[in-house]
This record gives sequence, C-alpha cells and structure tokens, in this order.
Amino acid sequence: MSAQDTSAQQQATDAALSRRQLEEIVRELEAAMEETRQWLALFHRALVCQLRPDPEVVTEDAHRMSRFGRWYSTHRDDDIFSQPAFAMLVGMHQGLYAHAAILAVRGWKDDRIPTEEYDALLHKIDSFNEQAGRMARAFRAALSDLDPLTGTNTRMTMEKELMREQQRMRRSGRPCSIAIADIDRFKSVNDTYGHQAGDRVLARVTRIIEDTLRPYDSIYRFGGEEFLICLPDTAPEDARRVLDRVRTTISETPVPIDNADPLFVTVSFGVAQLVPRRKLNELMERADRALYEAKNNGRDQVVVWTAELI
Ligand code: GH3
Ligand code: MG
Ligand code: MG
Repeated sequence: MSAQDTSAQQQATDAALSRRQLEEIVRELEAAMEETRQWLALFHRALVCQLRPDPEVVTEDAHRMSRFGRWYSTHRDDDIFSQPAFAMLVGMHQGLYAHAAILAVRGWKDDRIPTEEYDALLHKIDSFNEQAGRMARAFRAALSDLDPLTGTNTRMTMEKELMREQQRMRRSGRPCSIAIADIDRFKSVNDTYGHQAGDRVLARVTRIIEDTLRPYDSIYRFGGEEFLICLPDTAPEDARRVLDRVRTTISETPVPIDNADPLFVTVSFGVAQLVPRRKLNELMERADRALYEAKNNGRDQVVVWTAELI
C-alpha cells in the first residue's frame, strides 16, 4: 500500500466520515479530474486557434471559481481539509491554474511558450490527477471495503459472501470450492527489491488472478500476500484445473520492476470444498492445511485437501 493511500484511508477513518461525506468526497475528486480535463481543452483551444484566452483559464481567481475551488471554499474549515493530503491537492490545483493563466496570456501576447514551461504545466496536471486519483481510490475503498492496493474485496465482505455461498450450495446441492493462494517467497521480493516493488508485484498478481479466473469466481485479500478465492459450482478437482491455469499464467508473466529486470513470481494454492454444516473457519483451515502441503512439496502448485491431511 502506498504511503499516500494509507494516509488518505487513515484520514477517512480518523475523521469518522459518514457514508454521505465519503460519497461526496469521491464525487468531487472525480469531478475535479474531469473539470481539469475540460479546462485543459479550453487552454489548448485558445492556443491552437490563437483566440483570446478564455476567462475560465486566465482570471486571477480561476482556481477559486472552478467547481473544485468552490467546493473547497465551502468546506475549508472542515477537519478533512486540514489533513496534509487534501492541503497538498488544493495547493496543486491552485498552482496549476496560476501557471496556466500566465502561459495562456503569454501565448496570446508573445505567441510562443517555451517548451520547458509547457512541459512543466503538463507535469503539474499529471501530478494533480495522480494525487486526486489516488485519493479518490482510497476514499472509495473506505466506502466499499475494497483493498486500495489490489482493488479486491477484503476479509470483511468475504465472510458475509462465503456464508451466503454456503447457504446457496446447501439449497442447490451444487458443489463450491474455496482456495487460499499465497505468493511464494514473497518476503525475499521485499528484501531484495524493496517494499514498493513488493506492492507492485501484489497488485500485478491480483490482476492476473482476476483476469484468469472465470467471471463468476471471486477473490478477496485475505492477509498480507494471501488471497481467498471462491469458485461457485465447482468441485475441488475442477477447481484444481482452473487454479492450475491461474498458477501457470502467473509463473509465466513477467512483472516490471524499476531499475531491475522484470521479476517472475510463483503462487501456491490450497483448495477445500465448501460443505454444509461445517463452520467456515474449519473449511478455511482445510484450505490452509492444503496450502501448507503445497509449500512443503516445493511451492508453485495446487493441492486439494483430503482427509489424510488432517
Ligand atoms: P512462503 O513461500 O512460505 O509463503 O514465503 P513468504 O516469504 O511468502 O512468506 P512469509 O509469510 O515469511 O512472508 C510474507 C511477506 O509478505 C512478509 C511481509 O513483509 C510481506 N507482505 C505482507 N503484506 C504486504 C504488503 O501489503 N506489501 C508488501 N510489499 N509486502 C507485504
Ligand atoms: Mg503468507
Ligand atoms: Mg508467501
């Protein structure tokens, strides 16, 4: 999890924001990114067509008159805006509007904007969008119980949904499998390439699992580098086939790392069948026991729980 994601999520918790407030923040952050896109189009249009710059771009208080600026000014005394991530975002917004206004006038009067000035403005816009996007993700995560690093559901949603799945299989009599996936020797990825590279690997592996699973399967972040996968309508031997495909895809997909060759990682899986009248915890322990066996047998494999593994 990046420091900024953590900080925005922490803010959401610290400020004890209501669901409605969280929704408003996400909506306004997304609107701010869209507004910036439209505003940039006006800026470019004036330059390309050599028009007098639009007041929305060049007014001294264009920032304050923007939707984002107005939203900020009505909430500036709220606790949330005194948090560093928000203060930084507002500063960035102000800065890029001010910079664009100077360039727009310069382009109109002198008809040439130095390349480095233009590049610097684009860089400011990228940074603003990145920061706003990151914060929107973190606040959306607080709202929806999504894990901000991997975008998967967390344990909280998992238990509710697995219980529902168990009831469904009890009624329909159709099998359902669960699996615990754990990245192999992940600690050494962190130790060798740093925690940020580790985060990148986590996010990538999740994406591969999601893309390779079938649409009706679900994945939850279970612990640090462990995921729980639920495979409805699937007997354990079929789950083994599905997960073997996932496993092979992961082991064959390079993960890009800054300043180093791409990495290859592997994942081990432990599978158990969801059965009625057994506690979910007990069934997850079975999957965990099978995972332990997969690790013991050399990793990068799928093991299905059997009674001998007790
Ligand atoms: P094994 O093959 O037996 O699973 O070995 P392992 O190194 O993957 O297992 P171990 O449980 O010893 O280490 C798990 C590591 O995962 C340690 C922890 O620092 C790392 N980890 C957990 N959560 C995160 C995270 O969110 N980001 C990063 N970068 N690392 C994490
Ligand atoms: Mg682990
Ligand atoms: Mg591991």
